[in-house]
Amino acid sequence: MNDLRDLYQQTIFDHYRQPRNLAKLKDANRSAEGYNPLCGDKITIYLQVEDGVIKGASFEGSGCAISTASASLMTENLKGKSEDEALQLLDKFHGMVTGNIRAGDLGKLAVLSGVVEFPQRVKCAILAWHTMKAALQNVGETVTTE
Ligand code: ZN
Repeated sequence: MNDLRDLYQQTIFDHYRQPRNLAKLKDANRSAEGYNPLCGDKITIYLQVEDGVIKGASFEGSGCAISTASASLMTENLKGKSEDEALQLLDKFHGMVTGNIRAGDLGKLAVLSGVVEFPQRVKCAILAWHTMKAALQNVGETVTTE
């Protein structure tokens, strides 16, 4: 179990130091901003959606290791998913970080399951996901986790 935890921490740190998809998405047709006042995490999510399928996902922003790694992992996961699948994944992810769903279901996203032990960090982990939902729904205002 400790080995697994080390692996999870290494993966989070790797995504924090070298975030995937950290750029403005040139062909984005959806975007939203998110803010977590508890920690100061700020994020913008960009999505390219065609015929209900997410063709591209990226993010910009500045935040802690957890929020950055979560956004990085999320954008990696979204490509090729339908809007419905993306929202279902959000529900699963939310369930995982709040301790209601086993991490085994979530593949690589399981690396963030450890935040369940740190309630203040749950909002860091979920920020990118709520912002992604707002982007899909084309909400034009900043989403806050409060
Ligand atoms: Zn944070």
